[in-house]
Amino acid sequence: MGVKRIGVLTSGGDSPGMNAAIRAVARCAIYHGLEVYGIKRGFAGLLNEEIEPMTSLSVGGIINRGGTILRSARCEEFKTPEGLLKGAAILDKYGIDALAIIGGDGSMRGGVELSRICPVKVMGLPGTIDNDIPGTDYSIGFDTAVNTALEAIDKVRDTAYSHDRVFVIEVMGRHKGFIALEVGLAGGAEAILIPEVPYDLANLLDKLRESYEHGKRSSIIVVAEGAARAEDVKKFLQEHTPYHLRALVLGHMQRGGSPTAFDRVLATQLGVFAIQRLLEGHTNEMVGVEGGRLVAVPIEYIHTASKTIDLRKLEVASMMAI
Ligand code: ADP
Repeated sequence: MGVKRIGVLTSGGDSPGMNAAIRAVARCAIYHGLEVYGIKRGFAGLLNEEIEPMTSLSVGGIINRGGTILRSARCEEFKTPEGLLKGAAILDKYGIDALAIIGGDGSMRGGVELSRICPVKVMGLPGTIDNDIPGTDYSIGFDTAVNTALEAIDKVRDTAYSHDRVFVIEVMGRHKGFIALEVGLAGGAEAILIPEVPYDLANLLDKLRESYEHGKRSSIIVVAEGAARAEDVKKFLQEHTPYHLRALVLGHMQRGGSPTAFDRVLATQLGVFAIQRLLEGHTNEMVGVEGGRLVAVPIEYIHTASKTIDLRKLEVASMMAI
């Protein structure tokens, strides 16, 4: 049976560009004669029936806005069989036969679980600043988060230089170091600590001493939150050196802000592609981009594979840090 009415929701951690994705899903669906419903607060809003029709006008003026107009939430109830059954019944009540889920792997898992117990077709769009979802080179929000963190680092670099300080800057990335690596490379960091690569703070210390002897009096060290806490690294270095150290945690500012052109274009292309795949009858897929091409992978794949980081970039960064 073809798709007639589609629900769109954002779930899990928000990311800049989610609005551009909502807009693209809604407008492309309407363009193809489908009806669109916005579901608020992810699966929590589905269970609470926070469901409203969307028009091409209701997604106007949002392409440049960070966050998500549909709001986002986590919903433990949806992980239970009762929660899923309730969700399925509500979809049936509203006649929603397809779902576009913008979020992380957990959110897409929710969609797959739902599709096991009802005929809904599910299409996932990767929305997370962490960029840790396999099956796509980029997820919506990563580029913006990197640029936001970079702007902060550039500013810190000015004051680090003026005052001969070493700054340890913690960026987001609990399990993966994509943001740290990209930001570290772009920001000219002296060292980058990521969860994927074991590190030795004693080596870092040697490196700092060496730089100091070379005449480099200020440094930026970027750490992914999953590799180390900025404060701990600072403490260790401070105990063993006379340098002036500061620790800075960038935190949630990385999740906000107006999306970059890259994220807006990515979100728009993925939104359109998601609708096209649904209209072609596909389900339980995630749309993404690989090597510059739009791709669709089974959601199952993203739950079994692990996205690997390009360690050559780390080598390049250390080559630049002499
Ligand atoms: P993300 O989508 O960013 O990975 P979470 O892992 O927190 O974020 O998942 C977001 C939401 O997706 C959860 O709060 C829950 O409602 C739903 N979800 C996650 N895993 C499952 C599951 N196995 N079954 C049903 N729903 C799930």
